[in-house]
Amino acid sequence: MSRPILTIDLGALAANWRALADIAAPAEAAAVVKADAYGCGLDRVAPALAAAGAKTFFVAQALEGARLRRILGPGPVIYVFNGFMPSDLELFASNDMRPVVSSPSQLKALRSALYAFEAPPKIGVHIESGINRLGFTSEEIDLLRADGAGGCEITLVMSHLAMADEPSAGMNARQRGAFAGRSALLRAAAPGAQLSLAATGGTLLGAPFHFDLVRPGVGLYGGLPFGAAKRVVTLEAPLLQVRRVPAGDTVGYGAAWTARRDSRIGVLPLGYADGFFRTLKGVKTYLRGRPAPLVGRISMDMVTVDLTDHPDVQTGQLLEILGPNQSVDQLAACCGTIGYEVLTALGDRYQRRYIEAD
Ligand SMILES: *Cc1c(COP(=O)(O)O)cnc(C)c1O
Repeated sequence: MSRPILTIDLGALAANWRALADIAAPAEAAAVVKADAYGCGLDRVAPALAAAGAKTFFVAQALEGARLRRILGPGPVIYVFNGFMPSDLELFASNDMRPVVSSPSQLKALRSALYAFEAPPKIGVHIESGINRLGFTSEEIDLLRADGAGGCEITLVMSHLAMADEPSAGMNARQRGAFAGRSALLRAAAPGAQLSLAATGGTLLGAPFHFDLVRPGVGLYGGLPFGAAKRVVTLEAPLLQVRRVPAGDTVGYGAAWTARRDSRIGVLPLGYADGFFRTLKGVKTYLRGRPAPLVGRISMDMVTVDLTDHPDVQTGQLLEILGPNQSVDQLAACCGTIGYEVLTALGDRYQRRYIEAD
């Protein structure tokens, strides 16, 4: 096998969902599976989360929602964060998905397309509480209350925290206050609607942030800020070749690394086309728990590692890139990014293995 192996532990995924659901109870825990389930594979991740007990799912785009509906079948609730655009009408009308409408013009567009729906469409309403991306402003909420959602049924009122990964930030309490006030006004007009503010970070901020429904994403996949998460993702790559490089020779593009001693350099078959960012600095791989540092530039399809201190290594042997010795967030820190970006950049050239939940 000449490809790197990406292993996704569905048992750990399910355990992470259950742990977050326990923290959130009695609020409901949904599951956020946008961007191909944070790079982990929607077709395997979504059924595992449904089996663990998740009944409500969130994606970003309507097309992702349609794919999720095919995977899950009828039953589970699917919300689409990006809301309603007229070009997605057919997807919404035929896949039983709920747009999280985020502006009066989105709601207007949906209301003028009601003819396409068999029953009044159920929708979420995204309200602004401080992050200033999507959502109805206070004035727009007032207009919505006055006009009603005419022909649509509001089943969710949500907003999103800007600094939930920093528990001490005063912004969290300010956003919570704004959301509580504004959502209560809307719920008077839509008594059945669930209220939701928290993603992974907000879930960990405690009960005042949970309202009726929490929307964890990254924590399910083992990423920070859920420090107690079980590891879901393991990435290993087989050695393609090992060569001797005499002291003074250079390795790779730009001759960017010079051997200071007679060295043994291994080649691994993954590169920036696989989401292994060219800006990564100071990354190590691990051979049986012992580090073998990356040297030289990261190419499109390969990287080079210093194996001088591993005299007995052979081609074909697997080196750990993500695993017990290096987390997604530790790798992310090597190029100044966050675990979210490492996960969602995981390439589709890996051989994927799934460990089933029991
Ligand atoms: C992505 C997203 C989430 C999930 O966030 P995590 O930090 O990954 O838990 C929740 N809500 C909204 C609106 C999102 O866009």
